[in-house]
Amino acid sequence: MSTDVAATIDRLRATYDTGRTTDLGWRKRQLQGVIDLLKDNEERLSEALSADLGKPPFDSWLTELNLVKDEAAHAIKHLGGWAKKTKHAVPIVVQPAQAWTEPQPLGAVLIIAPWNYPLQLLLAPAVAALAAGNVMVLKPSELAPATSAAIADLVPRYLDPEAVVVVEGGVAETTELLAQPWDHILYTGSTRVGQVVMEAAAKHLTPVTLELGGKSPTIIAADADLKVAAKRVAWAKILNAGQTCIAPDYLLVEKAVSEKFTSMVVDELATFRDKAPATSIVNEQHLDRLEGLLEGHGGEELLPRKTDRDTRVMAPVVVRQPDPASAVMQEEIFGPILPVITVDSIDEAISFIKARPRPLTLYLFTSSDRTERKVLDETHAGSVCINHLVYQAAVTSLPFGGVGPSGMGSYHGKAGFDTFSHTKSVLKRPTRMDPGFVYPPYPARVQKILKLITRW
Ligand code: NAD
Repeated sequence: MSTDVAATIDRLRATYDTGRTTDLGWRKRQLQGVIDLLKDNEERLSEALSADLGKPPFDSWLTELNLVKDEAAHAIKHLGGWAKKTKHAVPIVVQPAQAWTEPQPLGAVLIIAPWNYPLQLLLAPAVAALAAGNVMVLKPSELAPATSAAIADLVPRYLDPEAVVVVEGGVAETTELLAQPWDHILYTGSTRVGQVVMEAAAKHLTPVTLELGGKSPTIIAADADLKVAAKRVAWAKILNAGQTCIAPDYLLVEKAVSEKFTSMVVDELATFRDKAPATSIVNEQHLDRLEGLLEGHGGEELLPRKTDRDTRVMAPVVVRQPDPASAVMQEEIFGPILPVITVDSIDEAISFIKARPRPLTLYLFTSSDRTERKVLDETHAGSVCINHLVYQAAVTSLPFGGVGPSGMGSYHGKAGFDTFSHTKSVLKRPTRMDPGFVYPPYPARVQKILKLITRW
């Protein structure tokens, strides 16, 4: 362990031990600090996101700055309620007594973020951890260096520097951080590294929240509003150039509308490609990876491949009927490639999804309540969004997280507060009454009465 990391953790723990982070006023000031940081530095942060990923400024505002601002504002508004004690009923054999639960901060926590929404995925978990009253290290992604540098500069100016520390770096620094005995780790990124994180955490029995990825399917039922569905699917696919953990990875379209819907989605993608500013692919390796996914898929490509290596902008490509065993249908795409698979029925779509790892999210376009209920009941996914995409992550009060290989635990809103709190159970009994019959040997009459009143 380098002296820097050791000293940082000692400093954080010393801050925690002062008790100041437990104070609701301190927490609200930190949350307001997050809002001020975002609002005062909108332009600078937007430029950093543009330098890292070529994100159009409005996309950055919508999916990064404003989303974190909403999380912080929601936490300020509800913190008093979330932090309250909850009374619990006391069974007759334990009476007289009071029982309650109260949330307590966990202590020192580590938050590790990926590069695709490098601001949002670092600061939204930080909002949850601050609301719950923790001290923390924030580890931004080294693959978004401009955003990482901006956060490292701004965070100490807006947040309590003795309670929130940004540690920049890549694998080496993260490995060193992971070796520490944290009270909680929230990691967002790939499933592969999620396993590394969980293994490191297991050494200290540190609980983890893993926000991972996977292939999120979109079902298009024959009774869907096809026009709206095509536009929304195309928008969600080109958002951040498909580098979104909850992007629609591939489509399962009912046969009756497959031909028509595919051509509609192709048209919408072509319009976005020609008219809207595009986010870049994060780096050369990811461009190579995406071009690799277009090899050997066995399907038909419906939009021309076009990649600008200078700007790293990749045009969307639709792949009709790829081989389910090919890489594009096995790996998370995380880019502007959209496989379209025709299914005979909703049952077939459900079977297709059930035969694969449980996804982070599932999208369904239908006008039928029965189809909606059937898909909700018969599939597993971290979240579901019906007749739209991606916006489920913007509803602050909805817990956000995966299931199985797409993750464990959740955050956003109260779910985030709960993730970073321990629910402490407390029982309190008065001492003024302490009759002898409650101790052994229990008198036969007392045994009989107790069994009677507990309806044994
Ligand atoms: P990544 O796992 O490569 O990197 C994420 C973080 O882990 C970075 O901070 C990086 O420094 C660190 N890291 C990388 N390799 C490491 C190692 N060997 N040991 C320790 N730390 C290491 O992930 P990524 O490529 O940045 O992100 C893409 C993935 O993240 C996709 O699968 C996507 O679906 C997923 N994702 C999930 C969510 C979600 O909220 N569930 C959000 C965004 C991205």
